Amino acid sequence: MSAVKLALVIPCYNEEEVLPDTNEKLRRKMTELQNDGKIGEGSRILYVDDGSRDATWALISKFCAEDPRVAGVKLAHNRGHQTALLAGLETAKEFCDCAISLDADLQDDIEVFGQFLEKYENGCEIVYGVRSSREKDTVFKRGTAQGFYKLMKAFGVELVYNHADYRLMSRRALEALGEYQETSLFLRGIVPMIGYKTDCVYYSRGERLAGESKYPLKKMLSFAMDGVTSFSVKPLRLLFSFGVILLILAVIGAITALALGQFVGFWGIFCLIAAASGVHLIAAGVLGEYIGKIYLEAKKRPRYRIETTAGDVAKNPNE
Ligand code: UDP
Ligand code: MG
Repeated sequence: MSAVKLALVIPCYNEEEVLPDTNEKLRRKMTELQNDGKIGEGSRILYVDDGSRDATWALISKFCAEDPRVAGVKLAHNRGHQTALLAGLETAKEFCDCAISLDADLQDDIEVFGQFLEKYENGCEIVYGVRSSREKDTVFKRGTAQGFYKLMKAFGVELVYNHADYRLMSRRALEALGEYQETSLFLRGIVPMIGYKTDCVYYSRGERLAGESKYPLKKMLSFAMDGVTSFSVKPLRLLFSFGVILLILAVIGAITALALGQFVGFWGIFCLIAAASGVHLIAAGVLGEYIGKIYLEAKKRPRYRIETTAGDVAKNPNE
């Protein structure tokens, strides 16, 4: 078998602080893998600039000029981590045998690339990087992340526990991924749905090399919301059960009041009205979330547009 053509896909949003360091480390790792015969000619480091406002693209262009193994794709707008990653994977699919996706800050241990490739050679189409420890994360990050996995599980969404978007996918898996045409992307939920032979590689998560997290609370919440509402209709069903319970309680309350001949005063009525309108508002909000999704999907807008490319990558489809 000829040596594997690997693509390292790295979404970057305002990452000027970490990129020089990241690029050096990744190039060194590529050389090491090449020398060991684990990857072959045509392997690439592919950066996706997710509409950064700083010098990220200038850096990527510079890296491309310095090393033919480095390539870049620049999105015209900031479309978020998941979409940027998809743009990278779809670009990589055209030239690689398999792709490993990772974050620009190298919080995910690149020393396990070898293990990823071994599993791939043994016939795995998808290999998940799973964190065996999160000691380096802040208590807040760890708490929210763990709460999120639990919530998703309660809603019946199949997720790989403690796996983020650090994974290897074969070209075949990437092609399957291309068939999921949804706009609200939640890759961690979609990838397990692809099926095929999978395995896990364990590593401990380190600290961000430099710069700050590009996932502020607002983005995290919208990511979690997308995760739930793109995959589960349980919130709708819960709402229904909640409504039924409330109705039964109201009937019991009314019967009791009638039997005792005691009708509630102003505050009782106030609470009742407040509770009822609260429930209505929550219901409308949840419905709105789903209707919003239908609305977005119905438009079938392109999910991203590649502005330019650099280095040796497949032709820009938007040109
Ligand atoms: N990222 C992106 N677009 C965004 C936000 C983040 O491409 O809108 C990238 C970011 O550059 C990084 C990765 O997604 O490579 C993960 O972000 P970060 O490390 O800040 O997240 P955290 O590790 O704090 O969850
Ligand atoms: Mg990070």
